[in-house]
Amino acid sequence: MGEKISQSNDGYPINIKQINGNFTDIHPAFNAQKVISESSRCLFCYDAPCVQACPTAIDIPKFIHQIRTENINGSAKTILSSNIMGGSCARVCPTEILCEAACVRIKSGEKAVEIGQLQRYSIDKFMMNCNEHPFIRAKPTGKIIAVIGAGPAGLSCAYKTAELGHDIVIFEAEKKSGGLNEYGLAAYKMVNDYAQKEIDFLLQIGGIKIEHGKEFGKDITISQLQNKFDAIFIAAGLGNINALHLDGENKIGIEDAISFIKNIRQTNDKQNLDVGDDIIVIGGGNTAIDAAVQAKRLGANNVTLVYRRGAEQMGATIWEQDLAKTNGINIVQWAKPTAIIRNEDDKIKAMTFEKTILIDGKLIATGKFFNLTTDHILKAIGQTLELDLFEGLELSGNKIKVNSNYQTSIKDVFAGGDCIDNGEDLTVQAVADGNKAAIAINDFLKSKK
Ligand code: SF4
Repeated sequence: MGEKISQSNDGYPINIKQINGNFTDIHPAFNAQKVISESSRCLFCYDAPCVQACPTAIDIPKFIHQIRTENINGSAKTILSSNIMGGSCARVCPTEILCEAACVRIKSGEKAVEIGQLQRYSIDKFMMNCNEHPFIRAKPTGKIIAVIGAGPAGLSCAYKTAELGHDIVIFEAEKKSGGLNEYGLAAYKMVNDYAQKEIDFLLQIGGIKIEHGKEFGKDITISQLQNKFDAIFIAAGLGNINALHLDGENKIGIEDAISFIKNIRQTNDKQNLDVGDDIIVIGGGNTAIDAAVQAKRLGANNVTLVYRRGAEQMGATIWEQDLAKTNGINIVQWAKPTAIIRNEDDKIKAMTFEKTILIDGKLIATGKFFNLTTDHILKAIGQTLELDLFEGLELSGNKIKVNSNYQTSIKDVFAGGDCIDNGEDLTVQAVADGNKAAIAINDFLKSKK
């Protein structure tokens, strides 16, 4: 890595005020006037396609109508009854490919109703004024459930099962709960410690205990938990960072984008993060964009994102790709890294890439190489399951195999989130998994009785 950041592109020093300004809320909240005009654009469709496009099936026309008629508490309850993490989803959901992409307004050539912003307004207003939790917990069932992981899937499952009267213990390896929302998203997507505020709100339902610093596989195992708990829900995420398999990959100057993002999220002193001057980010997903844009906003002079395929194959949404471009990120497609070049002091000075091409659906290396100067490389090439931790569970494509009820090959063990086959690293999808698994676990416990 290079010297501590001190200059912007135009050569002027970057100060803490500028850096903090670069990390303010990327989607500033709507004011009341904008909420009135936007909510009046909703056509309150019957069989609304936006609802079908929402993984948590929030009744969108209903909550927008409640906002429109100034029933903010009612609208928040409508949202939270389907998605207890509706506040964070309103901030971080890629609405442009989910609910808003399905809005009928688009068919008539107009902009979609800004569902995410209306949802945020409702939840924020409700949480600001609410004195008590909006839902009542059912009578205690005497059953106790272990949840592994306090990310969105684990928290939503814990919440829903607690609401149904069960007691829950969540085991979390990190110091804080929240998973992706707390550690894995660009800081400008969720500001003012919102992830923790939402968790505090969620826990008010009662019956949920969280044990931090408990690492699955080291401090707890499935068989230990089976002795004490009536059911287990695994929402442990993916712990293994994929490798580039290049010489010198594990030496200084290369880090995984997840750790880079986590450091930015957890520091109180962004100005002193040693980001470097010429950054290369390898990858094409939202994590790659989050890392690249944040590196630029921290003051790196040049940030280049390199992806081995084209724009259409990138996991990052078009909105994210545009965000990268408007933040001055140089995007290089159809190239894969082949070597890390270091100087005599072992410091990174460049990376070699080979151009790629797609022939009959196969990615082919062309034999044409080029170098890019760099002092800091960030890997955002995905994560995989720590397979040895899940011995005894049937797997599918290196992830945990579950049936349509989120039940694994062990009948009292359920799983959800990105550790299951077809799981995604998307907050709203994780919440949907947690909700559905909670219902299935409840049915399973009832059937045991
Ligand atoms: Fe409203 Fe659009 Fe949903 Fe129809 S599809 S209910 S107009 S948000």
